[in-house]
Amino acid sequence: MKRIMTRSFLILIVTLAVVAGMCLLAFRVVTQNDQWVAQPYNGHVASSNGLAQAGSITDRDEVVLAYTNDNEERVYHEDFATRCALMHVVGDNSLNISTAVQSMYRGELTGYSFVFGLGVPKSLRTNNSIELTVDADACKAAYEAMGGKDGACVVYNYKTGEVLVDISTPTYDPQNPPEINEDNEDEYDGVYLDNVMSSSYTPGSIFKIITAACAIENIPDIYERTFQCSGEYDIDGEPITCENAHGTIDFTTAFAQSCNVVFAQLAVELGEEKMTETATKMGFNKSFEVSGVTLSKSVYNLENALGDNQIGWSGIGQFEDLANPMHMAIMCGAIAQGGTPVTPYLLDSDSSLLQKLGVTKAKQSEQMLSADTATKLQELMRSTADYYYNARGLTMGGLNFCAKTGTAETGEDKAPNGWIVGFTEDENHPYAFAVVVEEGGYGISAAGPVASAAISSLVNNP
Ligand SMILES: [Zn+2]
Repeated sequence: MKRIMTRSFLILIVTLAVVAGMCLLAFRVVTQNDQWVAQPYNGHVASSNGLAQAGSITDRDEVVLAYTNDNEERVYHEDFATRCALMHVVGDNSLNISTAVQSMYRGELTGYSFVFGLGVPKSLRTNNSIELTVDADACKAAYEAMGGKDGACVVYNYKTGEVLVDISTPTYDPQNPPEINEDNEDEYDGVYLDNVMSSSYTPGSIFKIITAACAIENIPDIYERTFQCSGEYDIDGEPITCENAHGTIDFTTAFAQSCNVVFAQLAVELGEEKMTETATKMGFNKSFEVSGVTLSKSVYNLENALGDNQIGWSGIGQFEDLANPMHMAIMCGAIAQGGTPVTPYLLDSDSSLLQKLGVTKAKQSEQMLSADTATKLQELMRSTADYYYNARGLTMGGLNFCAKTGTAETGEDKAPNGWIVGFTEDENHPYAFAVVVEEGGYGISAAGPVASAAISSLVNNP
């Protein structure tokens, strides 16, 4: 009897162990099946990270950006510069760029099936190609205009939400990826980040858009006031410096000529609470999502500000301020659209596969500005472009546009980051844009030509 008891007990233990093992296996099959497919021991697909059976990726005009040939090799666009320009959006075989389409949607591209694995009979495979909203020619034009500098350029249609240009540098050729080692790691620093989505930079004077919005909403006589700028102004015994001694200047001219003295004083007068409220409403300190990618946050935070001098610097986009390029484009889209932006998207929403995934629908975001403030910011940015940027030869494909540049100090031994953000005013070409060029110098000369090249391409090669 005792022996039977012992045996029964042993059988129970073994049975429980088997059941537990099966449960664990079942759990892993369900939760990790797509990762198993691309494991190295699955030799058939390992060389291309599972992309050997992936469908094609095309741009908005059905230009093929990546496809798999008969030898099951992944082939990227035939033009070198176009490949480099679109590397962060499309991705490469390494899947190191986590936000790229080939990384995010590998399961969909390969038509991976829970039942068949990768061995889905061709006749049963779902439509596993993906059409993007980007324009390959315009991306190439923007990439070439970057002139080898690091940074980011984004252009999107602020009425439909389609992202037309998304380029990030440094980049590399996905067809012939470099071996990154000690000798060249500086050259490729940050290369796996799409700077449009995943980086935030000191904004400099483009932040005056936010300070201007806060002043418009909280200082009733802002347009009647005049200010004095002698090129330097002490707050708390420390100077705020300005490029020029602007003399007697009004609010509109101070915005157009980017007077630091006026905007630092305005930030101090408005104070931490109101400045933070406006910045937060306009999307700082928040997470945005674009086609399944959570953007790096823009930051406006005065918790560490030691006094009015630092609040002053925060009002002109220095101190601890940070801006994400895609968010800057969304904010400009909001200004163009009367205060409420359309969320950008990168994957064409006509694709049935992507509709099924539910990640592509352009939707309205939260309101960022009142319609009245949006109109007034349009006027400020329009007169800035008309009188100052056009005068220096900056055009946007011949379209009327509204913009603000920035030249952001990032460290004593570094050249400043050059920015331009804004939007075109044209029924057929409604484009919001943001460009940052790291250590590029003045925004108008560094970032302006990149935005111009991208938008000219969109206008001239529809
Ligand atoms: Zn000034």
